[in-house]
Amino acid sequence: MLFHDIALIDQDGKTREHMNVRVAGAYIDAVEPCGTTLDQARASEKDVHDGRGKLLIPGFFNNHSHVPMTLTRGYGEDLSLYDWLYKRIFPFEALLTEEDMYWGALLGIAEMLSGGTVSFTDMYMRIQGIFRAVVESGIKASLSNGLTGDAATLLEETAWYRETETMIRDAQTSKGLVIANASLHAQYTSAPELVRQLAVYARDKKLRMHVHLSETKGEHEECKEKFGKTPARYLADLGLFDVPATAAHAIFIEDEDYDILKNKGVTLSHQPSSNLKIGSGLPDVKRWRDYGIRVTIGTDGAGSNNNLDMIEEVTLASFLAKGMNHDPLLFSTGELLTFATRNGALAQGREDTGLLEEDYRADLTVLDMTTLKFQPVYDYGTCLFTNANASDVVLTMVDGRVLYKDGAFTTIDIEKVIHNVYRIRDEKLKMLAG
Ligand SMILES: [Zn+2]
Repeated sequence: MLFHDIALIDQDGKTREHMNVRVAGAYIDAVEPCGTTLDQARASEKDVHDGRGKLLIPGFFNNHSHVPMTLTRGYGEDLSLYDWLYKRIFPFEALLTEEDMYWGALLGIAEMLSGGTVSFTDMYMRIQGIFRAVVESGIKASLSNGLTGDAATLLEETAWYRETETMIRDAQTSKGLVIANASLHAQYTSAPELVRQLAVYARDKKLRMHVHLSETKGEHEECKEKFGKTPARYLADLGLFDVPATAAHAIFIEDEDYDILKNKGVTLSHQPSSNLKIGSGLPDVKRWRDYGIRVTIGTDGAGSNNNLDMIEEVTLASFLAKGMNHDPLLFSTGELLTFATRNGALAQGREDTGLLEEDYRADLTVLDMTTLKFQPVYDYGTCLFTNANASDVVLTMVDGRVLYKDGAFTTIDIEKVIHNVYRIRDEKLKMLAG
C-alpha cells in the first residue's frame, strides 16, 4: 500500500507535508517527500491511498486498560467509588464467563481500532476469551490477569496460574500479536507472601509486570500505616519491579518513590479521564518526565472513562499538565506523540514499532482533517492533540493489515458483537435481579 501525498509528524513533533509512505508486508518500506522515486512507482502500486487532507501517524499504544469492561460501561453512574465497585462492578464481573469476555473484548477492540489504537496493555480475568478476541481481530496486546489473594494463597493452585500458563503457551502461536504479562492487581488486594511468589514466577518466566500503583490516597496511606512504607517501596522490596514493569496511575507517589521507580526502570501509565471521573486526584506527570521515567498513556476500563479514545486521553493529559503547571509548553506535540506511541511500544517490549520510519512495523493510523473543526489548517501536527478525537480516524493498520477503514472493520462482525453485548447485558441484569 502507498499513502500518497500525505502529511505526517516527525518524532520531534514537526509536520512534514506532501509525503509518500509505502508499506510492504508488515513493515514500512519507504518514507519520502513527493516528487521522488515513489511518485514514479505510484502507477504500478495497486493499492494507493490518497493522502490529501490527511495526517498519518504511528498508531496508539493504550498502555493501561481492562478491555471487557465495555460490558459495564454506564452501569453505575453517579455513585461513590465504593458503591460503584461493591454494588455494581464486582457483582456484575463475578457473573462474566470466558465467552462474555470475548464479546466484551471484541467491542473494546473495535472501538480502539476505530480510534487509531494498534496495541493495548490489559489487565483483567478469564483472559482466554480476551486472547481469542485479540487474535481474531488482528490487533496487538499485552495481556494479563490481575492477581489478588491472601497470605495462604499458593500461586500454583490459582485460576490465575492456569490462565497465565495457558496464555504463555498460546502467545507463541499468535504471530507476535499477544505478549503474555504477569500482573498484580494492586498492593491492597494481595498479601506480601503472594506478591513474593508472583515476583519469583515473573522472573523465572521472563514476563513483564503490570500493576495499579497508589491510585487513591486511602490505599497509599493504609500501606504506610500497615507496612511502614509506601506501596512503591513495598512492591520494590518484594521484587515486583525486578522485571520490566508498568505501573498505572501513581497519583500519590512520594519523593523517594521517584528514585525507586526510576532506578527500577518502571514505566508509568497516566489515565487522566479515569482519575478525574473516579475523583482519585491527578499525578504530577511533568515530574515523572523530568525524572526521566518513561511516560505512557492509557484509557483504563470503559467503566471509569467511559470511552477508549486515546486521542482524547492524550489531549486531556496535555491540557491538565498545562493548567496544573501554568505552562502552555507542557507537553510538546512530539512528546505527547511519543508518550502515546513509541513509549507504549517500548513498555510492551516491542522495539520494532511505534515509529513512522523505514523498517519499523506498519502499525499506523490515518486521520481525516478536512472536516469543519480543523478549518483552516495551519499545521496538521498541532491539530492532533488539540481538536482531534477518535471520530477523525479513517484508517488503522496493524502489521501492514488494514483492520479499520472508513467506518468498516475488516476482521470484526460488528453487528454480531453489538447483538451479543446486549444479550449479555440483559442476561446479567436478570441474574442480578433474581
Ligand atoms: Zn485500571
